Order: sequence, then structure tokens, then C-alpha cells
Amino acid sequence: MFFLKTFFGKSKDQMADFLVQHARYQTMGRSGAGSYSNCCKVHSLGLRGAQLNKAREVVQLDNLAELIGAPINRFREETGGQYTVGFNGRSGGHMVLYSGEYYDSEYKSYCKQCHQRNYQAVPEGKSAPCAVCSHPRTNYKVPPRFHRVHSSGIDAGMSREDFLELDEASLKVKFDLVQRFDQVCDQVRSEFITLLDDFIVIEEQVMVPQMVKRLARI
Ligand SMILES: [Zn+2]
Repeated sequence: MFFLKTFFGKSKDQMADFLVQHARYQTMGRSGAGSYSNCCKVHSLGLRGAQLNKAREVVQLDNLAELIGAPINRFREETGGQYTVGFNGRSGGHMVLYSGEYYDSEYKSYCKQCHQRNYQAVPEGKSAPCAVCSHPRTNYKVPPRFHRVHSSGIDAGMSREDFLELDEASLKVKFDLVQRFDQVCDQVRSEFITLLDDFIVIEEQVMVPQMVKRLARI
């Protein structure tokens, strides 16, 4: 375990010390909101020579968050969307615990061809074209659920005394949450190291279709 610390005995004092001493990140600039964090800059992940060199390349991958994000998705699911982990700071060097929520996207149908979503359902027995490519749209069986994070921060400005004033059960809830966060960070780190050990970075050129606006004479 790299980020997760093992505790023998969890007195209120120990839990309060743990919470107040945990690394934090100021998520919202000077407004004072902030949350628990772990530094995940490549040089502070405990990597060896060759791994470290490769890590510097791998962090530039466009789809990195997707490749190593499975533990975060599991965490978000298990908390019913109440919490998630985001990458923050210059080049995403900090993993930060966020509170959040799932919300209904209100999309009713989509295009199987180009994945464009639509707020209108396709009436039963009828056909309705995609606004982009005219392919017939399909109604969602389960409408897609989106997730948003709250900007309020977590336990911002709480002192050791504030934590000790909580009853033991409430303090334990906070303690367990932050320990679980540390565990998720460990799991993301493991995913990252697996990438380093099992894959090489290849460069390829991709053609990106681009929508441009121009004037045409009428
Ligand atoms: Zn389409």
C-alpha cells in the first residue's frame, strides 16, 4: 500500500489526527474550499528508473484517465455517485476526493450511427432522423446518467477540535471515507504501473474531421 495507511486501533484522537494531517488540495483557488488529496506526480509515485522514464511519456496519453480510471468508477458507483476522485492541478498531479451526484441527462433517444443524442423520444411505430447524419434514431432503454461534482469542498477549514467534537460514529464515517479514498488512489497507481510494465507508447497520426464556419455568397 502506497497511500493507504494501516491503523491499529482507531481512537477518536487517532481518527482526528489522521483527517487533519491528510494532504489537501485547494480545489477552488482562494475561495477556501478544498478537499483531501494525494500527490500523483510521476516522480512521487515510487517508480524505478526505466518505469519513471516511461511514466513521463505515458502521462501525456490523451486517454490516460480512461485507461486507469476503473477503480474511480467503482468507487463512484459504490457511493451512489456521492463521491468521486478527480485529477487536479497542473498536468493533473493531484488526485482529489470530490462529493457529487448523478443526474438524469434527459436525453430520450440517440443515433447508432454517429452517437448524437436527442431530447425527443421517437414516437412508437414511427421513425425520426438524426439531426446530424439523418440515420433513424433509437430510443434509450435506460436514459444515460451523468455525474457532476460539487464545488463546495470536503471538510474545508475543519480543525482537530472540530473533528473531536463530532460523535464517534460520524467521525468514523469521515475516517472510513478518506481511507477508502487512499485505497482508490493506490488502485489507480497500480493500474498506472501495470500500463508501464505491459505496454509501449506508439505514436500515430489521426485524422480529425473538423467543422468549420465560412461565409458563402447568397
Ligand atoms: Zn447520426
